[in-house]
Amino acid sequence: MPELPEVETMRRGILPAVGAKIRSVLKLPCPRRPLTITPSGEKFCSLQTNSRIQNIERLGKRVVLVLDNELRVVIEPRMTGLVLISDPPTQEHLRIEWELSSRVLPRFWFWDRRGLGVVRALTPRQFEQYYNAKKIGPDALAISLSDFSERLKRTSRPIKVALLDQALVAGIGNIYASEMLHQASIHPALRSDRLRSAQVQNLYAAMYDVLETAVRYEGSTLGDGTYRNVLNQDGNYQNQHRVYDRAEEICSSCRFEKIVRIVQAQRSTFFCPNCQARKRS
Ligand SMILES: [Zn+2]
Repeated sequence: MPELPEVETMRRGILPAVGAKIRSVLKLPCPRRPLTITPSGEKFCSLQTNSRIQNIERLGKRVVLVLDNELRVVIEPRMTGLVLISDPPTQEHLRIEWELSSRVLPRFWFWDRRGLGVVRALTPRQFEQYYNAKKIGPDALAISLSDFSERLKRTSRPIKVALLDQALVAGIGNIYASEMLHQASIHPALRSDRLRSAQVQNLYAAMYDVLETAVRYEGSTLGDGTYRNVLNQDGNYQNQHRVYDRAEEICSSCRFEKIVRIVQAQRSTFFCPNCQARKRS
């Protein structure tokens, strides 16, 4: 599932569309499970037609087109959604086409194999209803140390599970939660509210480092090959993973213990029992 670095890569990939006018929006015929599109019918397309793209932002794991008619178009890839500017992996899973008045970027697409993606064209009021601060917390690449620390103190959940809570901090998913905890040498099952302040500082630094590096590498393309950048190429951060999906491999940091996989809140967690030993507080 695309997390902050993958979605940020999508955003940067279509950033040349800023300033362009949307000539048309087309829902392409797809025989597979339909996307969730708001509003339904032709209104989704007609609302955007002839407006100009003022900005392209990211909200957690979503790309947001800000239009000059105040509409916000939220593109949420969920499991298998992609934003593409050329050469789709398959034609049949192309879902929506935006045609622009731009020589640099004449069109882009939303592609989705499984169809779990969500795309919404919302007024500012609707946007606030769907995506207010109760549902989406501060971005993982914008939050301050004091805010991060305070939010972690409010929950007794295991730290790995807390990091996945988009209302606590937005953008982190299963891959990068495991990676940043390993870099910070924190056991994933430690209670969030019991982390010492030195641990919170280490985690905060690791969060920025892991996510910024992963953005530079254009995200992680896992074995299933689903995630691609806007040019339909693999990301490269998967080669930098220290723990994610590396169960039974020797830890590349300590070269002493094997990476272990456990399940927390129905999701896999990977960690090194040596680097991330559970210390008594
Ligand atoms: Zn280790």
